[in-house]
Amino acid sequence: MRTSDAPLVERMRGFGTTIFSEMTALAVQHDAVNLGQGFPDEDPPEPVLAAAHAAIDAGHHQYAPGPGIPQLRASIAEHQHRFHGLTYDPDGEVTVSFGATEAMAATILATCDRDDEVVVLEPTYDAYTAAIAMAGAVERRVPLTPPSEANPSGGWRLDPERLAATIGPRTRALVVNSPHNPTGTVLTDDELAAIAAVCRDHDLIAITDEVYEHLVYDGAHRPLATFPEMRDRTVTISSAGKTFSATGWKIGWACAPPPLTAAVRTTKQFLSFAGGTPLQHAVAHALTLPDDVYTELAVTHRERRDLVAAGLTHAGARVYGSAATYFLVADVSAWGYDDGEAFCRDAPARIGVAAVPVSAFVRDRPQVADLVRFAFCKRTPVLAEGVARLRGLSDHRR
Ligand code: PMP
Ligand code: GLN
Repeated sequence: MRTSDAPLVERMRGFGTTIFSEMTALAVQHDAVNLGQGFPDEDPPEPVLAAAHAAIDAGHHQYAPGPGIPQLRASIAEHQHRFHGLTYDPDGEVTVSFGATEAMAATILATCDRDDEVVVLEPTYDAYTAAIAMAGAVERRVPLTPPSEANPSGGWRLDPERLAATIGPRTRALVVNSPHNPTGTVLTDDELAAIAAVCRDHDLIAITDEVYEHLVYDGAHRPLATFPEMRDRTVTISSAGKTFSATGWKIGWACAPPPLTAAVRTTKQFLSFAGGTPLQHAVAHALTLPDDVYTELAVTHRERRDLVAAGLTHAGARVYGSAATYFLVADVSAWGYDDGEAFCRDAPARIGVAAVPVSAFVRDRPQVADLVRFAFCKRTPVLAEGVARLRGLSDHRR
């Protein structure tokens, strides 16, 4: 075959277009309520928006320094201290990125060599798998155990023995996403302590994705870096997208000790160099806003979660509890589907609702085949309409 007919390198084949883009395209095509891709349908809080306008008006239009503007690095360090008690030097330990996605890719590209193994939790957010493939490294998945039917609110749990069994001589890093997309699980202190022990015992780099750190409704989020001896081997990643309802701004960050920060900066400077200068200024201000800005967002989203959970239950679905994030998972078998992907492909045209199949986050696990992720980060009337349409589906089956 000619090179021009198969230009994509082998390790990136099979990624296609992300499930999120695919489902949003179907939602747009059918004018469906989009409970698929996780983005809010409202503006960031007013002071955050005002700070962005002010930054544009103040003429912040040129390249930021590669590691991010000093004001934002200082605000990120202050945020880590204020909410998590972690201390970072803004100059040598904080790097601003083009969203959490770039921070993750830069970290994996910087630290994982060809054929190194990287352990991830499954269900797995797609960007980790892609970054590992781009690095030529090898992904190893630790399946989380789904909640039992008897206790559907129990969360998807990590079995420490399964984790330990995944570690081998080539394991280099472990990616931890908590609060977890798509399940809404917040790892417990015991689970995090088990992860920390494995990282220490096998001298692994921990890479954490904490983008939902402020969207926790039950329990509490604790960064892995707060566990004994973990700060110095952890790259803590987060972003402003979820915390300030600004997913399109793509201002993220990585906090890590100096050697890891230097490594991340080396690759990051050749991915985007630096992006979103005025938005960096806005997020620098946003991060300093009082606690109620953060808590209001969580309170609002908890109500939205409850509305969707109750609506889906009423519509006949079995709903798994979600303690955090924008998402909850439900089983669509009551609506006549044994395949969540088939449901997600039909639903936009059939009933005007878009969602995302959990199977997109999982390999070869038949027990999740009929599970679907619903995003609840929309205004109440939109959620009510989505739920009403889903109820129509169950009425139709009676
Ligand atoms: N990590 C997780 C777990 C996510 O759900 C998302 C999507 N919002 C991201 C990372 C991407 O974050 P960002 O938009 O800041 O790149
Ligand atoms: N994180 C978002 C989600 O899980 C998707 C972001 C994207 O489209 N890449 O829905």
